[in-house]
Amino acid sequence: MSNNFLRRVDLIFDKDCDFKQVLQSAYKRNNDEIINELLESGLKGRGGAGFPTALKWKFTSEQPDPEKYVVCNADEGEPGTFKDREILFQVPLKVFGGMAICAKVIGAKEGFIYLRGEYRFLLKELENQLEIFHSILNDLKIPFRIKIVMGSGAYICGEESALFESMEGDRGEPRNKPPYPTVSGFRKKPTVINNVETLVYSFMIFRYGARKFKELGTADSRGSKVFSVSGDTPKPGIYELELGMTVDQFVQEFGDGDTKAVQVGGASGFCVPRKKFKDTIIGFEGVPTGGSMMLFNSSRSMYNVLHNYLEFFEEESCGQCTPCRVGCQQLKLGIEAVKKGEKHANYLEQLQKLAQTMKITAKCGLGQSVANSFFSIVENFREEMIY
Ligand code: NAD
Ligand code: SF4
Repeated sequence: MSNNFLRRVDLIFDKDCDFKQVLQSAYKRNNDEIINELLESGLKGRGGAGFPTALKWKFTSEQPDPEKYVVCNADEGEPGTFKDREILFQVPLKVFGGMAICAKVIGAKEGFIYLRGEYRFLLKELENQLEIFHSILNDLKIPFRIKIVMGSGAYICGEESALFESMEGDRGEPRNKPPYPTVSGFRKKPTVINNVETLVYSFMIFRYGARKFKELGTADSRGSKVFSVSGDTPKPGIYELELGMTVDQFVQEFGDGDTKAVQVGGASGFCVPRKKFKDTIIGFEGVPTGGSMMLFNSSRSMYNVLHNYLEFFEEESCGQCTPCRVGCQQLKLGIEAVKKGEKHANYLEQLQKLAQTMKITAKCGLGQSVANSFFSIVENFREEMIY
């Protein structure tokens, strides 16, 4: 793969898009054609997990219940992730457009945007844009309406089932899965819930066609993605890049010449050390990311980085299940004890067993993914963890 593989693209921030025309032409197609176009594109969920978008829409469309919903997950809370904020700020109509096309396919009359509490400053302008959107829908005689629901600043409410609980007025705690939202989501009705960016790409695929999207990226990671770049970089910001680059190519573009690690996917993702930059692909075949890319140079203590993540998880755990409620706290206390010399360095192996147990037994993605950063930092920066 050549260094030129790192390509900046402009698929979703493109300002020339004739919104009404794209929506109208998508609405002229039948539902099978729409699902097949999305399937052909290979679009996978951009929140981080990468479930095929076409299948989510298809499964929900097949449910016999006439009451269905489409929900946009705008509770962007992963540390280092701020790309949905920019998408909502720059191209909100396209997000609404993706929801409207999804609504047609599944047969929903109502959609909701669950907006992160800390993004309240976007609310007024989003409501202005929704007015424009609803008047376009009236012109096109499309019976679909979107409302915005505000979150209150809890990271766990970005987990889809906790998000539904919160929207229903209950405490934001994850539900057991399955059933998946495609069967039982908001108000226990079949629901498509997609990340902000997934909805924009869904809309833009009906502007450019699946082929153009599919030409970008790799077999497992089609298309492009919006990245939030932060940390020790001379170029922090939001970038839309083709998927499939290596971490090395990313660092050549965004590093400060002294990068020792890149955290891909935020605190719940993986820390890639310098020796693995060349062999690690950013994408579903390597390290996936919801968009967060944090660079660390040699002035950073990776112990402090891990400690910071564990404090975050301890604070944000909803406390519903024991592996996560107790595990997050014990991992944090454990690395503190090793660093102070109160525990032998071998204790790190005990802590890794605990992290592995959490991965298998925690109820939701929060507790399950603590092991990702724990393992990748402890294994690659062990010397920084000990007394
Ligand atoms: P998951 O793999 O369980 O599910 C991903 C999506 O696919 C969900 O919407 C789920 O409902 C759907 N799905 C999976 N199997 C299905 C099936 N058989 N039928 C129908 N639908 C199905 O992941 P998750 O727990 O929802 O999310 C974890 C991800 O979220 C992680 O990758 C993490 O990086 C990411 N994350 C993102 C942020 C952010 O701010 N963007 C914050 C925290 C975590
Ligand atoms: Fe709550 Fe953590 Fe259990 Fe998820 S894993 S349900 S956040 S306690």
